[in-house]
Amino acid sequence: MCRKIIIVGGVAGGASAAAKLRRNSEDDQIIMFEKGPHVSFSNCSLPYHLSGMIQDAEELVLMNPELFLKQYNIDVRVNSEVTFIDRENKTVTVINSKDGKTYSETYDKLILSSGAFPIIPKIKGIEKVNLFTVRNVVDIDRLNQFVSGLSSKKIAVIGGGFIGVEVAENLQEANYDVTLIEGTNQILRPYDYDMVQIFHKEMMDHGVNLIVGDTVESFNENEVLLGSGKKIHADAVVMAVGIAPETKLAMDAGIELGTTGAIKTDKNFCTNDPNIYAVGDAIEVYNALTHLKTKLSLAGPALKQARSVADHINEKPTLNKGYIGSSAIKVFDYNGASTGLNEAMIKGFDLKIQYEIVRIILNDKVGLMPDAKPMHFKLLFEIPTGRILGAQAIGKGDVTKRIDIIASTIKFGGTVEDLKDLELCYAPPFSTAKDIVNYAGYVGTNLLNQEFKQVNVDKVRSLLEEGKLIIDVREPFEYENGHIKGVINVPLSELRSRLDEVPKDKPVYLHCRTGQRSYNAVLALQNLGYDQVYNITGSFLGLSFYEYYNDKVLERESVCTNYNFI
Ligand SMILES: Cc1cc2nc3c(=O)[nH]c(=O)nc-3n(C[C@H](O)[C@H](O)[C@H](O)COP(=O)(O)OP(=O)(O)OC[C@H]3O[C@@H](n4cnc5c(N)ncnc54)[C@H](O)[C@@H]3O)c2cc1C
Repeated sequence: MCRKIIIVGGVAGGASAAAKLRRNSEDDQIIMFEKGPHVSFSNCSLPYHLSGMIQDAEELVLMNPELFLKQYNIDVRVNSEVTFIDRENKTVTVINSKDGKTYSETYDKLILSSGAFPIIPKIKGIEKVNLFTVRNVVDIDRLNQFVSGLSSKKIAVIGGGFIGVEVAENLQEANYDVTLIEGTNQILRPYDYDMVQIFHKEMMDHGVNLIVGDTVESFNENEVLLGSGKKIHADAVVMAVGIAPETKLAMDAGIELGTTGAIKTDKNFCTNDPNIYAVGDAIEVYNALTHLKTKLSLAGPALKQARSVADHINEKPTLNKGYIGSSAIKVFDYNGASTGLNEAMIKGFDLKIQYEIVRIILNDKVGLMPDAKPMHFKLLFEIPTGRILGAQAIGKGDVTKRIDIIASTIKFGGTVEDLKDLELCYAPPFSTAKDIVNYAGYVGTNLLNQEFKQVNVDKVRSLLEEGKLIIDVREPFEYENGHIKGVINVPLSELRSRLDEVPKDKPVYLHCRTGQRSYNAVLALQNLGYDQVYNITGSFLGLSFYEYYNDKVLERESVCTNYNFI
């Protein structure tokens, strides 16, 4: 059957839908409209042009209209904005920005993959600064050319989400003097506050002037004025405070929006008009963990939704299992990955979920390997079912492998018990024979079975203020190199002979470098009749990372005599 299928938007979702439609049928006429000059470019790689990792902006464009026509027989029209949808007559109105001509095209099926646009808040004086946003190749080229021509090197990036952080990192790598301003108390919200401190430190260590918990009040010429009274000189300002779904076209056509303000679709990504589908950043999706509708601006879901739509149009059944949200980021020398729920989401959405946390630090590969590095891992699971809710990993090695395993386990409804048995690939250069994912299963199962008690590193400062007894079970030389002020040192190797120093009648908190030895100490003490012993998860390494950034910016006294980051 020869149908005429029109696609609005020619990048992630749009291009993917077009290609899959063609694979499904040679008969259909497929036209893809893109209002910008490029189709099928790598949005996700845009920031890497700023550091020169991707030297030529044109490299970001992966396909062009000629190739689409030759390889797929798809009619791609760039510089062509769809301005109106006439649902009754099944036509779209298109304006060509090159010649200003307007025309219309009929359709049998229409797919909207119009994406999302960067939000520019109405802040006083905004017209006085050199303002940029990052959405497409034109934007990044414009920004790059402008900053390259600056004599001064001072740039402010506003917003600490993925785009803001990546832009800040890449500009800093290119030796600009970057200030990153984030209104809330942390960047990168997929990571909990305790985990994200690693990234805060990394930004600071690489010279980014990271300001969190401060909002932009107004602008002056080449200046950003913050609520705190700080003034930041900025010859260029990159606004990255978030994105909003491109819905005007849909709204004007009477396409229903959902509760989040994004386009509402059914399980097949069909809108309230049976001939109009919508995918990608413009729509809201079902979150399989919160059971709420949510906006999810990620490339993978957009591509997969596009594929489903192409299949549905061709009467191939597709299953919509909902979304859990998995993402990754590089922040200078650290890699981060996260999936599912974090603590802030559970609290923020007021989800009535009881959960427990596994917080472990282990080497990402066999310690003998010269590039083995600690990986910080946090996993949330439901009590009492053990069902895995989410995880975050940060380290210098392959964090995505670990989080991808967790994401898959969540999708299959897995529990912490399941993680213990996973047979994962192993050789020393890649991982450890019992991978951190398996360990998370062991620790989670032990917690589920209430075999020991724990507190997280974020509680250490208050424990100290309350005068609680903390015991450092590392060896004396480790203690000498840096320890928590006011704690006693009873190494695990001496614990059984120094029990007189460990009281039975009050809570005792134990830590080592990463939490492994102190866990052993906790079990030993429990087996010796102690019932108020707690393992400090994350231990000294986790604590050092947790405290460092705030110690520096708040100029407060450290709880440690010296930090340890390795
Ligand atoms: C800088 C940056 C970095 C990112 N990094 C990552 C990452 O690392 N990982 C990840 O998963 N996701 C990342 N994303 C998000 C990811 O790119 C998006 O989720 C994905 O591109 C969404 O696909 P989409 O088709 O909905 O929208 P887009 O890919 O944005 O395509 C929408 C297109 O529609 C066009 N359009 C809109 N309205 C019309 C109209 N009326 N007529 C014609 N054309 C129209 C727009 O011009 C636009 O080109 C990043 C995004 C950016 C901007």
